[in-house]
Amino acid sequence: MPLLQALQEELAALDAQHLIRRRRTVNSAHGANLRADGQDLIAFCSNDYLGLATHPEVVQALQKGASLYGAGSGASHLISGHSRAHAALEQRLAEFMAPDIAHARALYFCTGYMANQAVITALAGKDAAVFSEALNHASIIDGVRLARGTAQVFPHKDYAALEKMLKECTAQKRVVVTDSVFSMDGNIADLPPLLALCEQYDAWLIVDDAHGFGVLGENGRGVLEHFGLQSPNLVYMGTLGKAAGVGGAFVAAHETVIEWLIQKARAYIYTTAAAPALAHALLTSIDIISGDEGRERRAHLNKLIGMFSHGLNLQMWELMPSVTAVQPVVIGENAAMLNIAGSLLNQGYWVGAIRPPTVAPGTARLRVTLSAAHSDIQVHQLIQAINRLDQMSHVAQCFAEVA
Ligand code: PMP
Repeated sequence: MPLLQALQEELAALDAQHLIRRRRTVNSAHGANLRADGQDLIAFCSNDYLGLATHPEVVQALQKGASLYGAGSGASHLISGHSRAHAALEQRLAEFMAPDIAHARALYFCTGYMANQAVITALAGKDAAVFSEALNHASIIDGVRLARGTAQVFPHKDYAALEKMLKECTAQKRVVVTDSVFSMDGNIADLPPLLALCEQYDAWLIVDDAHGFGVLGENGRGVLEHFGLQSPNLVYMGTLGKAAGVGGAFVAAHETVIEWLIQKARAYIYTTAAAPALAHALLTSIDIISGDEGRERRAHLNKLIGMFSHGLNLQMWELMPSVTAVQPVVIGENAAMLNIAGSLLNQGYWVGAIRPPTVAPGTARLRVTLSAAHSDIQVHQLIQAINRLDQMSHVAQCFAEVA
């Protein structure tokens, strides 16, 4: 059948470029130690930055939530799916984020992907111009594509280029959108000058803090707390399937923005509400994140980040400068990177193997993610394994050059 044959040919072309992605099946809970495809592994690829996905109190709250509210929500939020658990979570998140957002209100979404789509499309209507950072996450890119306003991409952290675009912009409304922690590089956007620019040019600043919420800031409130920012121009998106260990996402902003999203955001309105049990479990996650245990977990994670970034001693590859839990080691070509990731896997270390189009061609990388659930010894052993492989590649290259 020609339709199938066309797809098969495209898949074969991807395979030839080492771009076919394969899934492993996890047969256990998703902790630092897990079992996947029958192999015991230490996971250095998850976004469970605080180890809450397997925290007994969070798991227990999820079970309690299911017994209180059932398995599913039954409907979308605006019909009958908005439960007491969702309302309580939104109230808790609004109170938690209040120091950073004046008149804060929060809205819970099924996923961060949908939250980005919702907020971008709702704020960037026909009469708006959207300015999107070059290294933004795919969910932002898709939200920008779907928005009815005009779109421009500004170069990575190049706020002078953005200012030029804002100056020339004649649209009535302006929306700037950026990741806080860039998900494949691990570096952090310079939010203070970016926010100043947005205030100067009367633009919304949507901040996707998927990798910062729970992790950054003394109390885990993420990148806004990290920089000490507060502004009515800010619209904050935090995900709850990463550091919070459960699933879903939230937008926190001035109450008027949230009311606008409830009325206008299609990705909020036209979908079944997430299971209330998830919201119930997240109340416990937020208690942990905001309490002493959260502070201890962040302190341990930060110690591991320091250990990893100082412990690598690379000749062939490059560790990207990052002070966050995302620590990318750039290898370069797809095939070489897959070999290295495969070799680490054989030794029991599961690291993210990231290729284009997620990153630029020629910059395939190991995306090591650290978690408070890791022990010092586990991180030390991973450092040694990567250093050894780098050394072996270096020696192999030296021989190849001599030959
Ligand atoms: N934004 C960023 C920066 C992300 O890394 C992710 C998830 N990888 C998302 C948004 C989407 O969040 P979710 O997984 O909750 O859909």
